[in-house]
Order: sequence, then structure tokens, then C-alpha cells
Amino acid sequence: MKNLPHKTIERLSQYRRALLICLESGKTHIYSHEIAKIQHITAVQVRRDLMLIGYTGTLRKGYNVKELIDLIGEIIDSDEGIHVAIIGMGNLGRALINYFSGKRTQLSIVAGFDINPDKIGNTMSGVPCFGLDDLDRLIQTLDIKIGIMTVPADFAVEVADRLVRAGVKGILNYTPKPVNVPKGVYLEEYDMITSLEKVAFYVKMHNDEE
Ligand code: NAD
Repeated sequence: MKNLPHKTIERLSQYRRALLICLESGKTHIYSHEIAKIQHITAVQVRRDLMLIGYTGTLRKGYNVKELIDLIGEIIDSDEGIHVAIIGMGNLGRALINYFSGKRTQLSIVAGFDINPDKIGNTMSGVPCFGLDDLDRLIQTLDIKIGIMTVPADFAVEVADRLVRAGVKGILNYTPKPVNVPKGVYLEEYDMITSLEKVAFYVKMHNDEE
């Protein structure tokens, strides 16, 4: 499973989200074209992704929703769970904690870090906020594997370096400043402006066609 394409991993997470909603509504089986419709992709794409993880449904009934959720969990989740930290407990950092709260039992945000003395020592949405002086020690003692960066852009490079030195294995960078990480650390950068510009581009194309 190590060589699954990045996009497949992304889609598996999206499929699971959709399947959990189906399960809650009492649906026990689902066809590839139904998943495809929810995700706005083709049924061929869904079948290809699920074949890659070794899952086949029956033609008559489709995929077993519960089985598929469990299988995706076996692939994406890790048995012992993964601890996550947020660096920068400002508007976005706190919004992410609130959004994430209770959504995934295998991933838990166990600590926040900030430089603002008014925030250090407080608990925000259930997550304790520490000063950067405690970063190295807590990454080790709390076994934090992932750092989410929501600091001002000017601090992005410095914070990424500190996280890598402290031993995290993955970084999700929400700042608009790209950072570098060494081999062995997985980096994902997300910029809302890029997403909005992409939408704007397709809106423009659509307008030009009319
Ligand atoms: P904010 O000012 O509300 O929060 C930033 C927090 O980081 C503050 O609490 C501040 O004290 C703390 N901080 C500053 N320097 C630090 C350091 N060196 N170490 C640890 N903490 C530090 O800002 P915000 O609106 O939450 O935005 C945070 C970042 O996220 C910015 O870089 C912003 O551009 C970016 N952002 C990204 C998206 C996106 O889609 N990727 C969306 C909105 C904001």
C-alpha cells in the first residue's frame, strides 16, 4: 500500500467521509456510481481507487459500506493513533481545532504552541497552549508526529525547521510561505487563495464560453 498515489489517498479520505454519512442514514451497500456522484468524479475512478486497495463489490449489491469504511481505516489510520500539534493558536489554529474536534479518533490534536504570553498556559477548545520553549520536549514526550503550521508567514521557515529538528514526521503548512523539509518528512501545503483562484479561473472560462 506504500505506493498508493497521493490523489488516491486524498480520495480514500473523501470516500470514507461520504460513506460514514451513508452508514448513519442506514445505507448498507453502495454502488461505485453512487460514490462517484457524491464526489463529482467518474465511477471508473472510484473503481480504480478501490481496486488499488484490493476491494471489489458484488455486481448485484455494490460495495458493503461498513466493510469499505473499515478497510479504508486500515489503510489510512495507524493502529496506535497519531498525535498532532498546532503551531500558532490564532484565528485559523483555533478554527481548525474546533472543526477537527471529535471527527477522527485516530488523529488527536494534543497540544498547541504560541509565542503570545496571554495564550500560553490556557486551554483553547480543549487543547492546552504551550510556549515554544516547550516544543522540543513535548514533541518527544507526547509523541507528536504531525505539526500543523498556522503562524504568520514570516515565521513559517523558522517554525518548520524547529518542527523537523524536534522530530515530527509530517507538516501541514497553512501559511502562504512555502517551506522545505528533508527526506523522510512529508509536507503538505494548503493555500486557500490558490483554491479560490482555481475556482475563479473556471468561472472565467465558463463566462468566456457563454
Ligand atoms: P492570527 O494572527 O490570528 O494567528 C497567528 C498566531 O500565531 C497568533 O496567535 C500568534 O501569536 C502566533 N505566532 C506568531 N508567531 C509565532 C511563532 N513564531 N511561533 C508560534 N506561534 C506564533 O493569524 P491567522 O488568521 O490565524 O492566520 C495564521 C496563518 O494562516 C497566516 O500565515 C495566514 O496567512 C494563514 N492563513 C492561511 C489560510 C489558508 O487557507 N491556508 C487561511 C487563512 C489564514
